[in-house]
Amino acid sequence: MKIGVPTEIKTHEYRVGLTPAAVRELTSHGHQVLVQQGAAQAIGFPDDAYRAAGATIAPDAPAVFAGAEMIVKVKEPQPAEIALLRHGQVLFTYLHLAADREQTLGLVASQATCIAYETVTDKSGALPLLAPMSEVAGRMSVQVGAHCLEREQGGAGVLLGGVPGVPAGRVVVIGGGVSGTHALRMAIGIGAHVTVIDKSLPRLRQLEQEFGTRAQTLFSTTDAIERAVAEADLVIGAVLVPGAAAPKLVSRAMVRRMRPGSVIVDIAIDQGGIFETSRPTTHAQPTYVEEGVVHYCVTNMPGAVARTSTLALGNATLPFVLALADKGWKDAVTSDPHLLAGLNVHAGHVTHPAVAQDLDLPY
Ligand code: NAD
Repeated sequence: MKIGVPTEIKTHEYRVGLTPAAVRELTSHGHQVLVQQGAAQAIGFPDDAYRAAGATIAPDAPAVFAGAEMIVKVKEPQPAEIALLRHGQVLFTYLHLAADREQTLGLVASQATCIAYETVTDKSGALPLLAPMSEVAGRMSVQVGAHCLEREQGGAGVLLGGVPGVPAGRVVVIGGGVSGTHALRMAIGIGAHVTVIDKSLPRLRQLEQEFGTRAQTLFSTTDAIERAVAEADLVIGAVLVPGAAAPKLVSRAMVRRMRPGSVIVDIAIDQGGIFETSRPTTHAQPTYVEEGVVHYCVTNMPGAVARTSTLALGNATLPFVLALADKGWKDAVTSDPHLLAGLNVHAGHVTHPAVAQDLDLPY
């Protein structure tokens, strides 16, 4: 199969659909890979690395789209990219169509076959192509939270790990799923005093088994959240209610009671956020202060560590890319119900029930 990898054109997006290592796997399976010139230059994968892996370098996006049967990307296609898609071409990338009518109609009109990373499932019902980005965001949340606690960033001037003779900072993680667990791991590693709050008792039991006494586990009630947040230096929002907006678990009044210069990192901001005071921010201006508390609410945290994120995403997508290329998309999706769950649009029709329902389109 001929596979195309265009440069991402969404603002501040430096990730890329395939790493040189993934290209090498594909070319060793007999496939041809076309990579747009400079596609991953910014994250340390020069064109020569792709050439060495067996790829051909194409001068621009039109050349990549025209020469490929399958396009592998990271972000949803922008209008200029949708215009380059054609009937029968496969698009494999994040799409997030349920909240994006214009893109959905564009993809339907393109007649392409569009498989979305975020709806591919695994045996346990989890979302294996979303998990790597939650891992990245969870680990990053402690790093950015620690930075925001520095005085120059508007923080109270607290070192999370403390030093001998000075107590460690208090980190509260609300939501102990994928991103929350990775936040916990980093907060424990840095030497902070760590509390995790979740509404799932089985999950809290697992976390207790994994981290023992290094993390305090609390069942999620308004009371528990209110007490923990009031004492925290850093609160991390890592809750997900599948298919729904994030619940507002931390009210403005609770934020007001936090010590001035404390920090909130709302990972769940892409679903609206769990703090009443959260609003989306970008990497260009990641923080703002409200009620005396520094808020970091960047909707695409993994974009800041684009090299790590590309490698992590690539590890998860490669088996699916190989299956699609080796078997052809039709055999690949009919032989794997988890990949089939990723099929969102095909030949002019929405093929994912939730997308059709949310956008009130025929299915
Ligand atoms: P997950 O499903 O793995 O974990 C969510 C956890 O929240 C679960 O353990 C669940 O029991 C818990 N939860 C649900 N309701 C709760 C409540 N009322 N109180 C306490 N806990 C509750 O989800 P995840 O993969 O960790 O993702 C979390 C959020 O982060 C999602 O909204 C995801 O889209 C987002 N995310 C954001 C970025 C970013 O750049 N900002 C990056 C990746 C993921």
